[in-house]
Amino acid sequence: MRKSISAHSPIDNALRICAGIGKGLGDGDPLVTPIVQSTTFTRTQVGSNPDHQYSRVSNPTVAALETALGRLEDALPAVCFTTGLAAETALFLALLKSGDHVVCGRSVYGGTTRLLQQILPELGISCTFIDSTKPAEVADAIQQNTRLVFVETPSNPTLELTDISAIAAIAHKARALLAVDNTFLTAALQRPLDLGADISVYSTTKFIDGHSVALGGALVSSNKDVLDRLRFIRKCTGAIQTPFDAWLTINGLKTLPIRIAQQSRTAEAIARWLSSQGVVASVYYPGLNDESDESLARRQHPDGNGAVVSFEVEGGIEAGKRFVESLELCTLVEHVGSVETLITHPASMTHADVPENERAEVGISDGLLRLSVGLEPVEIIIEDLVRGLESITLSCSTGESEVGTCLTNL
Ligand SMILES: *Cc1c(COP(=O)(O)O)cnc(C)c1O
Repeated sequence: MRKSISAHSPIDNALRICAGIGKGLGDGDPLVTPIVQSTTFTRTQVGSNPDHQYSRVSNPTVAALETALGRLEDALPAVCFTTGLAAETALFLALLKSGDHVVCGRSVYGGTTRLLQQILPELGISCTFIDSTKPAEVADAIQQNTRLVFVETPSNPTLELTDISAIAAIAHKARALLAVDNTFLTAALQRPLDLGADISVYSTTKFIDGHSVALGGALVSSNKDVLDRLRFIRKCTGAIQTPFDAWLTINGLKTLPIRIAQQSRTAEAIARWLSSQGVVASVYYPGLNDESDESLARRQHPDGNGAVVSFEVEGGIEAGKRFVESLELCTLVEHVGSVETLITHPASMTHADVPENERAEVGISDGLLRLSVGLEPVEIIIEDLVRGLESITLSCSTGESEVGTCLTNL
């Protein structure tokens, strides 16, 4: 396992790097990374080999983002893609061939499951889905042809934690690589490579951009062979991020550490508050489940547990619907990671095409709601959640002055 190279905590490291990303250093350089829209780059000589030649292969604006994302994990420059799923597709094509096997956590992002269940089998690549929070299940699922273990921690939407070091040891013993989808925490809170993973996987569309304006995906690694192969696949499939999206993502990345630190603090306060509310049947937030969850959270992401909180209201799908429709601040969308507080009803939205029994297996009940906490003050968000809870209980009167009473009554 690679030693933690940075002497600083993930958030301090990110704070030191992010604000100055892409800053020009020479006399008269632009302060902000320029958008280089040119598809093509000139040469002075036949056979010369300039850094950039054609923007399907590489582009200066995309390269600036790649350098920054790599530095955030003390790794080599990242490889950036049009979307998170384009990055995952390239990952699978780069590392797997017909006859190979993948072990994957069962509560990963739905699009990851769809690729592994519906596309890769047609290429002769099989996958076993297991509960990655239990390392023994991962070890049992390993086959002689397993080449890749893929996990997401915290998981989506129930925010269970997977022990990255333990899974890395199991994967490496089997000579497989470990990829960790770190979209929910980002390298500002959790650095999977430090914990033994081989590849960190990102949808930069979420917290890294942070403003819901740019699609993107990124793969970060210290393994040069893996990165070369990923760049080759990207060139062959034409999945590089656009310069404009990379530029927007760079600008978002500059404030990532400060946003995610603040959003995590608010999310944790909301999770604790929700836990004390009567009509809330359960609350899912990293570190809040039990003691072992708390110690794993502290070890893997000591600076914060992320901005996503899920909770289950009593009364099933009807209550869930009433709750979200009564909110005024939280916006109903299929998205996480933006500056505004967002809410999702997984059973009818992100996981609507997952059969009900499979949903139940991974803890997605009809009354489950997923909150992506934004930058608003905690009291204002809680005030809105009180509206949601009132719509279920109808036991409180509305109005700001009554919020305090509602909190005690609920
Ligand atoms: C959104 C998301 C993805 C896919 O990313 P896109 O940019 O939407 O393609 C992958 N993993 C996680 C955890 C996500 O939230």
